[in-house]
Amino acid sequence: MEPLDRSTIWPYDERGEPGPFYYSRYGSPTVAEAEARLGELDRGEALLYPSGSGATTALVLSILRPGDTIALAEGCYFGTGVTFQALARWGLRYVEFDQTGAPPDGVQLVWLEAPSNPFLTMPDLAAAAAHPAPVVVDSTAATPVHLRPLEHGADFTLHSATKYLAGHDDALLGAVVCRDPADAAELRTFRTRTGIVAAADPAWLLLRGLKTLDVRVGRQTETARTLAERLRGHPKVQVVRYPGLGGLISFDLADGDAARRVETSTHLIVNATSLGGVASVMESRYRWEGERVPAGLLRLSAGLEDPDALWNDLEAALEQA
Ligand code: PLP
Repeated sequence: MEPLDRSTIWPYDERGEPGPFYYSRYGSPTVAEAEARLGELDRGEALLYPSGSGATTALVLSILRPGDTIALAEGCYFGTGVTFQALARWGLRYVEFDQTGAPPDGVQLVWLEAPSNPFLTMPDLAAAAAHPAPVVVDSTAATPVHLRPLEHGADFTLHSATKYLAGHDDALLGAVVCRDPADAAELRTFRTRTGIVAAADPAWLLLRGLKTLDVRVGRQTETARTLAERLRGHPKVQVVRYPGLGGLISFDLADGDAARRVETSTHLIVNATSLGGVASVMESRYRWEGERVPAGLLRLSAGLEDPDALWNDLEAALEQA
């Protein structure tokens, strides 16, 4: 493994001049190494932040100004809208739109999610790229294994690296990957000034996670495909959402009570929030998102367990629906 350097300061050189690293808010070797690896995967210049939400906050505060409006993909990660609402008193506005079509006119930023969590729609990247405003794609659930948004005209790719990129439910981390080095330089300056910067430990865990990203996401995708297909044939399951890529599935049972009984009846699949780790997790999203989602909606993140063992667990739990 690459070394983990937790230092916050590095000595000036023999002439008394700062080297590449001198104070960790400006930059640090382990964070820089992880940024380089992620930048290679996403074909851009990556910056790490303390969480995905931290990356969202830093990005909009850095590139927008009071009075600007964001076109936000409806049905995307509900926390993104919550973050934008928290910034409303600073003059930030957002409108929701159907990301499978063109974004509305008169907005200063287009915010897509590939695929959206938990509705699992895929954005129309070509329609967004034709819009005059810069385009952000939150590609947390797709990962660079399935999609590199910068190659489809996006200006910024955003990740909650907490999920698949780090991959083991032990690091809270976010990333923005920029197509234009000038944008990256601007974000870097803003990050240094505001101090919304990642620490070395989670960056090191990201470096470790990235080494197995391809095999993990490949396997999680195969498992999710199998589970989605079997769920589609199950009489208690009303709707199955699966975009054909990635490890995330959502499906609907008759009502909230059925969802609660099923999510608390699995043994192998853990009843917990989040996604993208090596352990399969499932939860009702109604508890967090309320009326925005069907009461019977369950979100399942496939891990690395044996797919048949996962299905047996799920099938047994569905008896309780
Ligand atoms: N984007 C997506 C698609 C997410 O699912 C999440 C978290 O669930 C976030 C962003 C926020 O990331 P974090 O929890 O690392 O702040």
